[in-house]
Amino acid sequence: KKIVIVGGVAGGATAAARLRRLDERSHIVLVERGEHISFANCGLPYYIGGTIKDREKLLVQTVEGMSKRFRLDIRHLSEVTQINRDEKTVTIHNLSNDNVYTESYDELILSPGAKPIVPPFEGLTDAHNIFTLRNIPDMDKIKQWIDKQKPQKATVIGGGFIGLEMAENLHAQGLTVTIVEKSDQVMAPLDPEMAAIVHEHIRTKASLILNNGVKHFSEKGRIITLENGEELTSDITILAIGVRPENELAVQAGLLTGERGGIIVNDYLQTDDPHIYAIGDAIEVVDFNHQTPTMVPLAWPANRQGRLVADAIYGHKRPYTGTLGTAIAKVFDLTVAVTGNNEKTLSSLDIPYRFVHLHPVSHAGYYPGGSPISMKMTFDPNTGVIYGVQGVGRDGVDKRIDVIATAIKGGLTVYDLPDLELAYAPPYSSAKDPVNMLGYVAS
Ligand code: FAD
Repeated sequence: KKIVIVGGVAGGATAAARLRRLDERSHIVLVERGEHISFANCGLPYYIGGTIKDREKLLVQTVEGMSKRFRLDIRHLSEVTQINRDEKTVTIHNLSNDNVYTESYDELILSPGAKPIVPPFEGLTDAHNIFTLRNIPDMDKIKQWIDKQKPQKATVIGGGFIGLEMAENLHAQGLTVTIVEKSDQVMAPLDPEMAAIVHEHIRTKASLILNNGVKHFSEKGRIITLENGEELTSDITILAIGVRPENELAVQAGLLTGERGGIIVNDYLQTDDPHIYAIGDAIEVVDFNHQTPTMVPLAWPANRQGRLVADAIYGHKRPYTGTLGTAIAKVFDLTVAVTGNNEKTLSSLDIPYRFVHLHPVSHAGYYPGGSPISMKMTFDPNTGVIYGVQGVGRDGVDKRIDVIATAIKGGLTVYDLPDLELAYAPPYSSAKDPVNMLGYVAS
């Protein structure tokens, strides 16, 4: 078989490696527009902040290393510009020598990801100090600007995961940071009362402006005028207001896309062309709990789908069962984590729900160093099926969210949570773990 993969990072590189493991003889062509394949997108903010010191560590696999190890035909600095479905070929533009050629495929996998949304703000094209962050070249530009220009004041537009990670890392570099968020809260997967805890903490480290967006930029990006007329001076500005799927190839090829532009696939990640599959940030998925369409640009789904798609191509079919949206971020000294549906989503879907709030201590109260975790769990009032959980705290948030994410996928209900026998010693937990407590309170 000859398989062509578009996009060589999270989903694409995973699929390539799995395809090779399943078949020694297939010809696997991995086409990547950028210079690097399989790099650690998620680590980019931490190199800018200085926590990750060695840039090479972000390059998880090199072109040479991965070509050799998995016998892949890697074409980096090459862009697929067209899918010719009738001939089963793709058109490739080699960006290093400007050559354009076609490559045939038996099966095609699209993993082109999502790109930062950049509205055509007035004054944006004159500015040199406004950046987005998606890949290594973006990261290098930001780092060089900081090292050379020694900015003092930073502005982060957008209070999502990437925006807040950048705020923390710019603060770590000694900059005074202002975060501007258009809605009334940061981190959309949190309900407002949970986000309020995060707001309070952010305000001890940075300025936070809510309910306000960018109107325009002026003075080469030095002045940001907000929608309410307020002006900010900014030496460096990060635009992190969300991403949109790179669906151009799919749209041009006439493949089905959803309301928000995500490529539509079936349970086996196949588009409406049976020889074209799509995975990762570029696709529309279904919500694991309610099977409603959604888009979740995160690394776990991309990796999982990369493996499943390779299996499906070789006949080991296992469906992708939907995305819970399990996510976590370090926001200065806090950990914020979520899985499943929050109250906002459930009420917008008109699904009956109940919720409980709990503020347990991360480990036994008598052992020093414990700190409160604020938790909120949503569930079905009739069956006790768990819909989701949110956690905000300094310690032990990650494992509670992961246990509940596992419980949801395992079909456990709130009535099962008290029965989970979890690891306990005073430095780690309590004899009744916060997860058990959520179950007691809910039932
Ligand atoms: P990508 O990994 O983006 O790969 C797509 C690749 O396709 C790109 O390199 C692009 O150049 C290439 N491409 C696109 N079109 C073409 C074409 N026509 N021809 C050739 N090549 C093409 N997720 C988490 O779960 N946790 C985190 O902590 C986290 N942190 C993040 C931090 C940052 C700064 C960023 C940017 C993302 C982060 N993510 C995180 C999201 C995660 O990186 C993505 O969900 C994941 O990489 C998606 O994988 P993908 O394969 O769909 O797309």
